[in-house]
Amino acid sequence: MKSLQELIRPNIRNLKPYSSARDEFHGAASVFLDANENPYPPASGLAVNRYPDPMQRALKQRIAELKSIAPEHIFTGNGSDEAIDLIIRTFCEPGRDGIVSVAPTYGMYEVMADVNDVRYTKVSLDDDFRLDADAVLNAVDEQFTKVIFLCSPNNPSGNLLDTEQIVRILKTFDGVVVVDEAYIDFADTLSFTRRLTDFPNLIVLQTLSKAWGAAGIRLGMAFASEEIITTFNKVKYPYNVSLTTQEQALEILRNEERKNMQVKEILQERSRLAVALRELPFVRRVYPSDANFILVRFDDANATYNYLVDKGIVVRNRNTVALCAGCIRITVGTPEENAALVEALKAMKF
Ligand SMILES: *Cc1c(COP(=O)(O)O)cnc(C)c1O
Repeated sequence: MKSLQELIRPNIRNLKPYSSARDEFHGAASVFLDANENPYPPASGLAVNRYPDPMQRALKQRIAELKSIAPEHIFTGNGSDEAIDLIIRTFCEPGRDGIVSVAPTYGMYEVMADVNDVRYTKVSLDDDFRLDADAVLNAVDEQFTKVIFLCSPNNPSGNLLDTEQIVRILKTFDGVVVVDEAYIDFADTLSFTRRLTDFPNLIVLQTLSKAWGAAGIRLGMAFASEEIITTFNKVKYPYNVSLTTQEQALEILRNEERKNMQVKEILQERSRLAVALRELPFVRRVYPSDANFILVRFDDANATYNYLVDKGIVVRNRNTVALCAGCIRITVGTPEENAALVEALKAMKF
């Protein structure tokens, strides 16, 4: 097994990180003349004139309590998308290294690989969107593949990937394995965060954008070994999570009960919506979902999509995505929104 230090790019391993004013001093003081801030806020009640905590300590403390994971194993960033980019920039040498993922899956892995000039290899899931660990491992280049990205529950298919297949990849692959759990709160399974102590090469991604109802504040989380988190902290922008986001995230995470109630409601609606969709004559298949959306195969996805847009209802046309010909991804909304969708579809001429 390669050590993490061997996997990290040499320039990152040797990086002397920027040290911000708030990194160098974070004790108790009453006069702060160290960071060239304006001593006055820009408007009354908008106390944003001071830089935020670069290490997001209070927020990580709350996340640590919620998830039973020590703060040293937590990275918080500008959405999970920041973490995806950081992972690639930390481990993959541009123009040389590569990552492996499955198809179909979340589009950002490939975009971030392209941005960083890192080769992206995709391995097809099977017709029921199941993961074949051996197929993924066969696509690995021993020398150049540094990271494998897995998304579970997977987007856009909605299903959980098989735990044993993921574990097989974690045990066999000589590199970093990312398990993106953006939709984990909607699934009836345990998070891979509880396996962090078993696998030093595991990174788990979660976010406030889905179940926690806070896509607008941009707060993503990565859970990994202390070594990986320390490295991310060297590479990230010093103030990568704004003061407003840190405060609002703390407020949101105080109310887990509210999130749980909303998840329950969304899951009930998901079942109702799936039943209603299956009754439509032009629906060929409603895929099972472990997330807050449903992938549906229609006789004619483009015509259905255009018809719905015409009715003011926007869904995600996945017709051109691998294994998703004829498919539309539908987010579960409020009971009223879902009823509007079903009514519109019932009235569709086909
Ligand atoms: C929505 C989503 C995310 C969330 O990204 P944020 O940047 O945290 O909003 C991450 N991964 C997947 C697979 C998603 O579908």
